[in-house]
Amino acid sequence: MTKEQISDEMMAGRCEKHLCLLERSVLLHMAVVDPFRQLQQAAAAEGLDIQVASGFRAYDRQLAIWNAKAEGLRPLLDTDGHPLDSAQLRDDEKVMAILRWSALPGCSRHHWGTDMDIWDRAAVSPDYQLQLIPEEYAPGGPFHALSLWLEKHAAAFGFYRPYDRDRGGVAPEPWHLSYRPVAELFEAQLDGAFVRKLLDNDGLSLKSAVLAQLDEIVARFILPPPREKHE
Ligand SMILES: [Zn+2]
Repeated sequence: MTKEQISDEMMAGRCEKHLCLLERSVLLHMAVVDPFRQLQQAAAAEGLDIQVASGFRAYDRQLAIWNAKAEGLRPLLDTDGHPLDSAQLRDDEKVMAILRWSALPGCSRHHWGTDMDIWDRAAVSPDYQLQLIPEEYAPGGPFHALSLWLEKHAAAFGFYRPYDRDRGGVAPEPWHLSYRPVAELFEAQLDGAFVRKLLDNDGLSLKSAVLAQLDEIVARFILPPPREKHE
């Protein structure tokens, strides 16, 4: 897949023709399915049963999440995950609080089909309620072994975790895995111009507050972190 084949619609989760069904209700980019299965098999040999909680997410789904938070229908959380009183916040503060935990619609890495949230089915009982919180992946949590395994082996299969630690933007998401060879083609097209075009024609709540601080938002929450030396 080359850069020219990635349309704005694909970038924004408004196109599904490049996707493939991994399993019931989980869609991934067609170039990601095989590498993911290889990763899954290698992990299985070490007793891990990697499952996808969420793969591709459509634009409309992300818009519904955003608007529910913007309009106070879903709780807003502070940097550490504690509930905020939405009525006490200015619009620009609401925008920053949402972005810590939820992507701007059209800018989620889940729109690309290259990224997924994963957990280890072998580590918990069948009735376990998955929460996707950092404690589950930290020492003492059921998915710490998965986290350690990924740290050691994910790169050999082309995968990495873009939100593995707190860089001051998106909150840490140790469960979020990305297939680098394809994701970086999407990343290359992410910039302020793309986001501005996106905001032109949709029903985003708090749009003017987003536009007023767009450059900071793009730098902190949308552009990928710079690659580190050891990567
Ligand atoms: Zn995710």
